[in-house]
Amino acid sequence: MEPDVSNLLSVQQAIEILDAVPVRPRAKPLKLLDASGLRLASDIVSDRDYPPFDRSLMDGYAVHCADISSAPSELPVTGTIAAGAVTPPALGTGAAAAIMTGAPMPAGADCVVPVEDTTKLDDGRRVRIGHASSPGRFIARRGSDCAAGRVVLTRGTKLTPAAIAVAASVGAHTVDVFPRPTCIVLSTGDEIVPLDAAPGPTQIRNSNSAMLVALLNRLGGDARDGGIVADEPRRIRATIQAALDTHDIVFITGGMSMGEFDFVPQVLSEIGVDLKITKLRIKPGKPFVFGSIKPRFVFGLPGNPVSGFACTLRLCSRLIARLAGGNASDAERWIHAPLAEPLPANGPREFYQPALLRPDGQVLPLAWKSSADIYTLAGANALLVRPENDPPQSAGTMARLLPIPE
Ligand code: AMP
Ligand code: MG
Repeated sequence: MEPDVSNLLSVQQAIEILDAVPVRPRAKPLKLLDASGLRLASDIVSDRDYPPFDRSLMDGYAVHCADISSAPSELPVTGTIAAGAVTPPALGTGAAAAIMTGAPMPAGADCVVPVEDTTKLDDGRRVRIGHASSPGRFIARRGSDCAAGRVVLTRGTKLTPAAIAVAASVGAHTVDVFPRPTCIVLSTGDEIVPLDAAPGPTQIRNSNSAMLVALLNRLGGDARDGGIVADEPRRIRATIQAALDTHDIVFITGGMSMGEFDFVPQVLSEIGVDLKITKLRIKPGKPFVFGSIKPRFVFGLPGNPVSGFACTLRLCSRLIARLAGGNASDAERWIHAPLAEPLPANGPREFYQPALLRPDGQVLPLAWKSSADIYTLAGANALLVRPENDPPQSAGTMARLLPIPE
């Protein structure tokens, strides 16, 4: 039987608190090539029509449609227009000009016949055209994709590869963006040793920092490892204070719960952090802590790795998304899939169970050993989310999943 958790905040209440804290994302100019994946801090406007001239969409022949209405027809070839050609000579009636994809249309011509539909005659001095065409065929008219002065990308848009192409095409080689919020991960625990140290018989390696730095970077943060702090309030305090001076969000793992050496929540309130969440009705991750000290934020994560992972993916991700200039909901990419196996009833806490979304579209819940079991977590590609007090579920029932970023 689980201890009574009815007095703790629900995950939904925690989300409301997290989403309500005011944030002021910083904007800065960056070279477009360095801004991939970031969100724009200002609109981008087209500096000219696109395409900027009537442009051929094919390699072929520019002609007057009226001259090829009775197919097949033969025309003299009076010139060749390459991409980049400046003001090609106007095309007289009864003639064709060879034209390349991306080249400007000669004045007078009103369609392009693709080379596949033609036969060269007399060494290219004449051309036979297999069938008739219609005005405008295979021509992109000036401004048809985008008119000069139009907002092509709005503030808040994420610079995806295609958005980068748009920005590049309108001359935005430097863009105003919201940089990735800076995150630092501090691990507490007298038993924790650095990755390159030989652990004593009762010591464990600092897997949390490595895991969280990797996860936070995938969630849009700019994360670094701040090392290990002993379970000693003065040291914890000094380390957190230094971290707060230079980072948007400070993450502390361990020392968050009810043990005799769990000093972190008390230290945070002594520093002046406004603790908005302490403890949650979530499994794993009950000792989750969130607070703010303007303009910075602090997350206290349980030391147990799966707990810290689940809380970061479900909750911390929302604040990162907002500090990166987006919305909290950017962090919610739910998937729904049928259960491959039945599930027993869930307890009173919202449960985030490691699961495997299989190629056949079904989701396999992975056996829950404990919130320390990173070995099972490493085989999961999603967290299966069970509501509080969810009754037993049979195989085939639809389940809700939070994908784990790869
Ligand atoms: P705590 O929340 O400090 O009581 O820690 C809970 C459990 O997580 C303990 O078994 C710790 O040894 C373990 N743990 C705490 N910090 C880390 C860490 N940085 N890396 C791996 N395991 C940890
Ligand atoms: Mg500890």
